[in-house]
Amino acid sequence: MELRKIGVLTSGGDAPGMNAAIRSIVRYGLSQGFEMVGVERGYHGLLRGEFVELTAASVSDLIQRGGTILQTARSKAFATPEGIESAAKIAKDYGLDALIVIGGDGSFRGAQKLCEQGIPTIGIPGTIDNDISCTEYTIGYDTALNTAMEAVDKIRDTATSHQRCSLIEVMGRNAGYIAIEVALATGAEMVLVPEKDKNCPRVQLVNRIVEDIKAAQSVGKKHHIVIIAEGVGGSQELAEMIEECTEVETRATVLGHIQRGGSPTIKDRVVAAQMGMRAIDLLAQGKSNRVVIIKNGKISDVDIDEGLAMKKTICEKDYNLIGYLSRSINNVGQN
Ligand code: ATP
Repeated sequence: MELRKIGVLTSGGDAPGMNAAIRSIVRYGLSQGFEMVGVERGYHGLLRGEFVELTAASVSDLIQRGGTILQTARSKAFATPEGIESAAKIAKDYGLDALIVIGGDGSFRGAQKLCEQGIPTIGIPGTIDNDISCTEYTIGYDTALNTAMEAVDKIRDTATSHQRCSLIEVMGRNAGYIAIEVALATGAEMVLVPEKDKNCPRVQLVNRIVEDIKAAQSVGKKHHIVIIAEGVGGSQELAEMIEECTEVETRATVLGHIQRGGSPTIKDRVVAAQMGMRAIDLLAQGKSNRVVIIKNGKISDVDIDEGLAMKKTICEKDYNLIGYLSRSINNVGQN
């Protein structure tokens, strides 16, 4: 089939760098002779035929902006057999020959189903959590890490002044990637991640933290930073329990959506540009139902079905390193 008109949408949670990816897809797509179309508000907008023609000018002044100009949404109506069928018909009637979907695993499942309905699709991983198994990296992750790191550094300053324990909740419903890297980067004393601690009774978590605080106090530490992934949650309740047990002033801070926003880092902009190009090249080569990925540090791609079946888990070495670094500091009696 001759490819003429290519659509692009962003779906699921937004991530810094999605705009840079849209810009790359549109400008590189135009350079390869394709007509480029944006679908606003993800699959929700596709079901409503919210198409917008994209030119080189319509993606100008975009590379440095967080969020997504196409906006994003979650759509239950789309994820039904009728929804998929209807969305595919709307796309075909509009004359879309292919669709590039920037989002997470859920968005790729939708792309896979659209492909079954005769719309060639390519997925680009865009989510701050880095929780897509088939790729080493997702657009938005580096920016979110840096935002969280800067926030923790600030909280650390005041925690040290007041000799407080600070529980800081970062994003990651099912994955502890942000939590582990931020804990490593900020010199946190401890990290709690869904992969290990989601089903752990609260009392046990509190006991672990209390033990750690006592050990740190005995060597003169002036603060205690615990990074908690969103999926473990309950930081406020944990803080109250810890303060009761230790009499150490304990505060919980939920960083929340601040981690989703902001200007993308250089890494996110560069990866977005490269992934956008790969998506267009794949379509131009007649390929579809594939996800653009980073493998061994390089741009690559994988079949969506295979990609969705893959499993990825936290790096145990990094997880353990947080404990070693915190403890070895204790050993030499420094803060
Ligand atoms: P994030 O990682 O930011 O949550 P995501 O792409 O995984 O991103 P989801 O909310 O899971 O976010 O999925 C986005 C949209 O994709 C859903 O609102 C739905 O319309 C569609 N979708 C999700 N799962 C399926 C599925 N199994 N079949 C068809 N469509 C799906």
